Amino acid sequence: MTGRLSGKSAVVTGGAQGIGLAICRRLAEAGAHVVAGDLRSPQDGNLAWKPLDVTDEDSVTGFIEAVAAEQGGIDILVNNAGIMFERSLAGQSANDWDRMMAVNLRGPFLMARHVVEQMAARGGGAIVNIGSLEGIACNPGHTAYAASKAGVHGLTVALAVDLGPVGIRCNAVAPGWIDTDLNRVYVESHPDRDLVMAELGRLHPVGHVGDPLDVADVVVWLASEESRFVTGQVITIDGGRHARLSLPSIMNRA
Ligand code: NAD
Repeated sequence: MTGRLSGKSAVVTGGAQGIGLAICRRLAEAGAHVVAGDLRSPQDGNLAWKPLDVTDEDSVTGFIEAVAAEQGGIDILVNNAGIMFERSLAGQSANDWDRMMAVNLRGPFLMARHVVEQMAARGGGAIVNIGSLEGIACNPGHTAYAASKAGVHGLTVALAVDLGPVGIRCNAVAPGWIDTDLNRVYVESHPDRDLVMAELGRLHPVGHVGDPLDVADVVVWLASEESRFVTGQVITIDGGRHARLSLPSIMNRA
């Protein structure tokens, strides 16, 4: 296939479903050879994948070495694997906190740490981290998640500074509400799913929540040469939700 990522070798963590799967599909449509790394096999049986636990350094090095050996190297890393839970501060153990940090922050660090050599050997590359709007603002009960995603944004800037000299760019996207399994528990905690989705949509100037492909299209741009002078950035993808200020609901403005 020819495309703007033709001949590129890409890896996507957490690529089995949701946003990661959409990213795998869009990267492949752009011509890249894509391998998903995940704890489980992908929902799409056509996708190339290998088992990966991003919290485990041996698993990370084994995954990267295996992909590099098969593909001749790695040009694009998308750090997408992530978890989310809602818990009050008092109801949260140190183990809960450590688990969130292990997947959401240690994972991207380990992947970047071990992929750099591969990318540098090919003259450079692109790292795209999936942060979150919750690394910028926050819902109640999200101390660990918000802290982990703010950490991802900080890691992004630091990697851009350190890796620019070897030709590696690093950017992040900060998605708002994207309809995936990650937030389905919240939606399904109310008996009327349609009502919840309609109310969620009303929070967004564009009138609806996001789709995984809305994130994937920006990730492909950040992975491509079209964004060659862009590094160290965190791009919000939220349908304008964070841009709109709240007003008292009794004032009845649209
Ligand atoms: P999801 O739960 O649908 O998919 C997450 C994937 O990560 C799963 O396939 C899971 O198996 C994998 N994963 C989890 N732990 C892993 C580990 N240790 N090693 C390897 N893979 C692991 O979630 P999603 O909504 O697609 O989220 C993807 C990313 O986007 C996450 O980093 C999430 O924080 C971020 N995000 C999501 C939203 C949203 O509204 N859905 C918003 C902002 C950011």
